[in-house]
Amino acid sequence: MTKIIINGYKGRMGQALLACVPQHHGIVLAAKIDAGDDLAAAIEQADVVVDFSSHAATVGVATLCAQHHKALVIGTTGQSDTETFEIRKLAQIIPMVWASNFSTGVNTLFWLTRKAAEILGQDFDLEVVEMHHRLKKDAPSGTAKSLVEILADVRKLHLNEAARHGRVGIVGERTPREIGVHSIRGGDVVGDHTVIFANIGERVELTHKASSRDTFANGALRAAHWVVKQKPGIYDMQDVLGLK
Ligand code: NAD
Repeated sequence: MTKIIINGYKGRMGQALLACVPQHHGIVLAAKIDAGDDLAAAIEQADVVVDFSSHAATVGVATLCAQHHKALVIGTTGQSDTETFEIRKLAQIIPMVWASNFSTGVNTLFWLTRKAAEILGQDFDLEVVEMHHRLKKDAPSGTAKSLVEILADVRKLHLNEAARHGRVGIVGERTPREIGVHSIRGGDVVGDHTVIFANIGERVELTHKASSRDTFANGALRAAHWVVKQKPGIYDMQDVLGLK
């Protein structure tokens, strides 16, 4: 039995995780934590912490997991460069699955995006569009950032220089060295992502639409079961799904 702690259980993802745990044979809930609760007091009861709280909490959670040699599944997005650096350091001590998106469909989209970018080549303009519910705090979404990372990697572009976040004013003609990123917010949209490959005379669009948070929750629980058996390091959902 893999014993898990859900961090951020009162949130939208936390509630989805709680609802999905009973469907996972081999996983049992050891504790649930939210802001104001004491994770340190509960952590020894678990094998793995599943963190869907806030990017601001994740370094502290990872530090605690490293001190107690517990595995970690990171679902939070929006980490700063400093937070990312700290988390990566702690992954030398414990195994972590860190994924901007835990759904099987989106991980298929990641795979297809790489393939399409490789096949279509340099002549296609690359744009990523994402839409999420009105309460989402970070932009662009972690998933959109992952898609831009994949595109930049295939095109051998520097990530931060290539990403073009929205356009306003007299921005001039589009250059082949930019990847447009556009965030739409509204209503209760769980998460839509489209990658556009546009050339003169034709356009390819790859789209994924999530209509339930259960898809993320079930992926994160599968990752929790998997990560407890791994060596220290950072893994992603492609590792868990065996897509690498
Ligand atoms: P939410 O605001 O509904 O829930 C966050 C919960 O975390 C709240 O209950 C809040 O009280 C709690 N929290 C905040 N700080 C905390 C702390 N220090 N300790 C413990 N609990 C704390 O947000 P959400 O929509 O559930 O999303 C949570 C995170 O997961 C976000 O970063 C979001 O971008 C990310 N997310 C990731 C995926 C994925 O597949 N990786 C999917 C959906 C959302």
